[in-house]
Amino acid sequence: MKSHSLARTAFAPKPIDWRDHLRQAARNPAELLERLGLALADEPAGSRFPMLVPQPFIDRMQPGDRRDPLLLQVLPDRSEEDRVSGYNDDPVGDRASSAGRGLLHKYRGRVLLVATGACAVHCRYCFRQAFPYATEHAGNNHWRPALEYIAGDESIEEVILSGGDPLMLPTGRLQELTTQLSAIPHIRRLRIHTRLPIILPDRVTGNLLDWIGNLPWPTVMVVHANHANEFDDAVDEGIRGIRGRGAHVLNQAVLLAGINDSAPALSGLMRRSFAAGALPYYLHLLDPVSGAQRFESDESRAVDMMETLRRELSGYLVPRLVREVAGEPYKLPVL
Ligand SMILES: *Cc1c(COP(=O)(O)O)cnc(C)c1O
Ligand code: SF4
Repeated sequence: MKSHSLARTAFAPKPIDWRDHLRQAARNPAELLERLGLALADEPAGSRFPMLVPQPFIDRMQPGDRRDPLLLQVLPDRSEEDRVSGYNDDPVGDRASSAGRGLLHKYRGRVLLVATGACAVHCRYCFRQAFPYATEHAGNNHWRPALEYIAGDESIEEVILSGGDPLMLPTGRLQELTTQLSAIPHIRRLRIHTRLPIILPDRVTGNLLDWIGNLPWPTVMVVHANHANEFDDAVDEGIRGIRGRGAHVLNQAVLLAGINDSAPALSGLMRRSFAAGALPYYLHLLDPVSGAQRFESDESRAVDMMETLRRELSGYLVPRLVREVAGEPYKLPVL
C-alpha cells in the first residue's frame, strides 16, 4: 500500500509552466480556430511570420466569435501577402539607428537592447516582424559589443531591454545581463518592454520577482495589452507581484482597427489596465509594416476618440497618442 502511494506521488504530473505553454501553443490557424470551436474559412498561404498563440491567451478569447478582439490580433490573414504603397519592412527606421549588434540608439539618453528575437505570441500588426533578428539581436550572450557601446557613451542614462520579448530569456540570463550592466556607472534607470506578463502571466515566477526586486536601478516595466479582455486574475496577480518588488508598471497599446478603435474599447482598456496596476503610457498609431494594412485606423477618428477619453477619464488614465516617424527625435504626439 505504502509503496504504491509513494509511486503515485513520484509520477504525479508536474504543473504546466510557461515553457510548456509555449511548447503546446497553437501554431496554425486551423488549430487555433478549432480550439475556439470555429472552422477555417480561408487557408492563408504560408507567411514569413509564423502563427504563435499560447493557450492561456486563447482562454481569454470568446469561443465561437470570429471578431474576438484578441483573436484578431493573432490570426494570420491573406492580406498579409499584399504589398501596399506606404507599407514597408522598416517602417520606423530601426535599421538606420542600429548601433551594432542588438542595440538601437535612436533617442537621446536611451538605448534599446534587443536581448532576444523571440516572443511568446506573434502579433500580426508587429512592426518588428520584418526585423532581421537572426543577425540583429544580442542573444546567446553576444552582448559584449552592446555593453561596450553603452559603457563608452556617458549620455546613456537608461537601458531598455526589448526584443522580441526580453522575458523569453531564462531568468539566469537576465541576471547575467543586468550584472554586467551594473558595472556601467552612468546607467540610472532600467526599462523592460515585455508582453509576457499579459500573454503568459505564469512567466512571473518567484525567481523573476527576485531578479526585479534586486535590480540596482529604479525600474520601469512597460507591458503591452490592447484590449481590456487581455486582463484576468492571473495577469493582475503577476502585475501585483512586480509592483510589490518596487517596479513601476506602465501599459502601451497600439490602435488597431476593429479591435480597440472605439472610445468605449479604449476607455475600457485604460480603466482595466489601471485596475491591474498598469498606468496607461503610449497609444501608438499603427506602424506601416508590410502586411499589416488591415489594422490601420483613421487618424482623424483617433483624434476624436482621444477627445472623448479626455472628457471621460482622469488625466492619468489618458494615454499619449503617438506616431513613430523615422528620423524624428522622439515619438511624435498626435493631437
Ligand atoms: C520607443 C523607443 C524608445 C523609448 O522611447 P520613450 O519615448 O522613452 O518611451 C527608445 N528607443 C527606441 C529605439 C524606441 O523605439
Ligand atoms: S510581443 Fe511585441 S515584439 Fe513580439 S510580436 Fe507582439 S508586438 Fe511584436
